[in-house]
Amino acid sequence: MHNDDNSFFDAVKKSFSKAAEFTKWDKGLLEQISACNAVYRMRFPVKKEDGSIEVIEAYRVQHSHHKTPCKGGIRFSMAVTQDEVMALAALMTYKCAIVNVPFGGGKGGIKIDPKKYTPYELEKITRRYTSELIKKNFIGPAVDVPAPDYGTGEREMAWIVDTYAAMHPHEIDAAGCVTGKPVSQGGVRGRKEATGLGVFYGLKEVCSMEEEMLKRGLTPGVEGKRIVVQGLGNVGYHSAKFFSEAGAIIVGIAEFEGSISKPDGIDVEALLEHRKRTGSIMDFPGAINLENNGAALELDCDILIPAALEQVITKENAPRVKAKIIGEAANGPLTPDADEILLAKGALVVPDMYLNAGGVTVSYFEWLKNLSHVRYGRMEKRFNETMNERILQEIEELTGKKVDDKNRSLIKHGADEIDLVHSGLEETMITATREIMAEWKSNENIPDMRTAAYVVAINKVATTYAELGIFP
Ligand code: GLU
Repeated sequence: MHNDDNSFFDAVKKSFSKAAEFTKWDKGLLEQISACNAVYRMRFPVKKEDGSIEVIEAYRVQHSHHKTPCKGGIRFSMAVTQDEVMALAALMTYKCAIVNVPFGGGKGGIKIDPKKYTPYELEKITRRYTSELIKKNFIGPAVDVPAPDYGTGEREMAWIVDTYAAMHPHEIDAAGCVTGKPVSQGGVRGRKEATGLGVFYGLKEVCSMEEEMLKRGLTPGVEGKRIVVQGLGNVGYHSAKFFSEAGAIIVGIAEFEGSISKPDGIDVEALLEHRKRTGSIMDFPGAINLENNGAALELDCDILIPAALEQVITKENAPRVKAKIIGEAANGPLTPDADEILLAKGALVVPDMYLNAGGVTVSYFEWLKNLSHVRYGRMEKRFNETMNERILQEIEELTGKKVDDKNRSLIKHGADEIDLVHSGLEETMITATREIMAEWKSNENIPDMRTAAYVVAINKVATTYAELGIFP
């Protein structure tokens, strides 16, 4: 992995300092906001199926306690280091502030390649990690709430909640100790696609901004936009899927094994099937195999969506990136040097800590659902249908228009959980986009959208500190 001249955490601090200049807060307070409050580095043994013992390296970082619990995913990857987890935890603080989700930032990581372990071994590693977090008070519905991230998903979250509940048999809110759980285990519908859908909603709002689009020679709107996605994991796949459904054209996809291009559009579902069957995205019918996995990043396109790992666009390849909009679905995909190069080229870089906030936004809905012990949606179905029919008639009389089918069903039957989650997410992403753009426009010295997003985040976190005062 390329660092250019900065470690990942340094890169986050650099963006923070650049934005801090546009705020009025005390230097010491700014230092407190950007520092990581608590870093737990652990080593524990796992006995593998062949009887051998392996020592596992893992972390949990709580970046900020200005609001609790801390919140953020757990990743399983060989690239996990303390620096990486610290950077990701910091991004979580700013991300939550931007979308008004009342959490401090946290993040966890286990340095393993999950493909090299059996499900049984992965379960043991996940449960042991959870028990280490419990011992040190680094997990709990009011303390620190993990979620999926790179290399983890519903299955791991189910193991975590089960371990936590087993060790807290009398805690009524135990289900709220982790989010991204299977729906049958207290999860919320819509969490799985939330980050990708949030990326779509955020970029759709950006694409509706006429001035920004025309400046870059693009027509407003999503339809017909040529998109390249790096990473066909949960975030990349869902981003590509929602863009395709809205009429955009997926002209390139990059993965570990290589990258492909297809100027008339890749059918993402078919590609996923092809990958399942052959183990690779290469040789997809109708597509061109590109030289290496980085090649798709340099394809001619309107929007590039890096949706895998950090620091994949560096000062080395940035000069060759042709996209006019970079939508950072991954955390930290650009090094600071790459960021400067792309901005100088006139690209609009839509920053990670806002654009990929859909996951944590829906995690918040899940956590609220767990703590309130209710189901969302359709609760009043039977009682209200007749009444709702009358409301519909009145709306139609008043407006002189027929209510369309989707809204008719929502008004008549009440919303399902999935409708509530999706509309809550859309509203959140639109509001956040507008807030950041307003900040950017309010000061002509703010150079880019990332800096504007940081200014918004810093102001919110600092306001909380200022109101609470400093203990003791
Ligand atoms: N891992 C996701 C992120 O980086 C989700 C975090 C969460 O839901 O808490 O934003």
